[in-house]
Amino acid sequence: MHFAGLKAVGESCTKPGLYYHNNVYGTLVLTEAMAEANVKQLVFSSSATVYGNSTSVQYVEDFPLAAINPYGRTKLMVEDILRDLSAADTLNCVENPWKIALLRYFNPIGAHESGLIGEDPEGIPNNLMPYIAQVAIGKLPQLSIFGNDYPTPDGTGIRDYIHVVDLVKGHVKALAALTGDSFQNGACKAYNLGAGHGYSVLEMVHTFERVTGQTINYKIAPRRAGDLAEYFANPELALKELNWRAEKTLDDMIADTWLWQRNNPKGYDANS
Ligand code: UDP
Repeated sequence: MHFAGLKAVGESCTKPGLYYHNNVYGTLVLTEAMAEANVKQLVFSSSATVYGNSTSVQYVEDFPLAAINPYGRTKLMVEDILRDLSAADTLNCVENPWKIALLRYFNPIGAHESGLIGEDPEGIPNNLMPYIAQVAIGKLPQLSIFGNDYPTPDGTGIRDYIHVVDLVKGHVKALAALTGDSFQNGACKAYNLGAGHGYSVLEMVHTFERVTGQTINYKIAPRRAGDLAEYFANPELALKELNWRAEKTLDDMIADTWLWQRNNPKGYDANS
């Protein structure tokens, strides 16, 4: 399972070379080393960002792909590279062909329910959930909601949030599928890992308040460059071929985030 990627869209715009080097070149080196060792099963962390500015808000795996920033281009380039490696094996009728699952993550949030494993972003978080959690714990003063004039029911952006433990289970299922019948002759297939429905930013804030009993100080701010109004997964292919579906609720995601945040009010301390 190949998780070694940089993932901040903003940083990828100011340091594109770093992103291409790490995400694209790093994957090339990895696949070369794997092929040399004749180890040719790979689960790759891709992203819903590869759907670019799709006209439909519910993404299906066979939609046309596009990228709108350097981070997204690295994910799309790696997908293309892996599809090409797999196609070449088919053309060359190799004995041990590549078996590759491209897992397109939607918006993973939450933490392990033990409160022992969670997300500790460096500096000020880019993503909504860690930002809300840090406002709730008093580490940050106020959440900025990026735009309330989108064409959505309450005007704020809608995303498909998925519990990180559901995401983990999707990887285990994908790895199992690589050894099964549908990959028997080698293949490179993409799967959406999302819940199949979305929540708005305001719904996220209000659900966080209800589940945790905390009040979230927020203000409406201008839209963030590059943000789309709404998108969510069509997760049917993952159910059909991987026997996977997201099971945890938004309340679970928030309760687990909050337990982790309360255990680590100042951020993760390896010595505590
Ligand atoms: N968002 C927000 N304030 C923040 C961070 C995010 O209003 O401080 C919004 C963002 O505009 C989007 C949603 O929350 O509609 C999810 O953003 P996130 O960065 O977590 O994921 P992304 O949209 O990049 O997939």
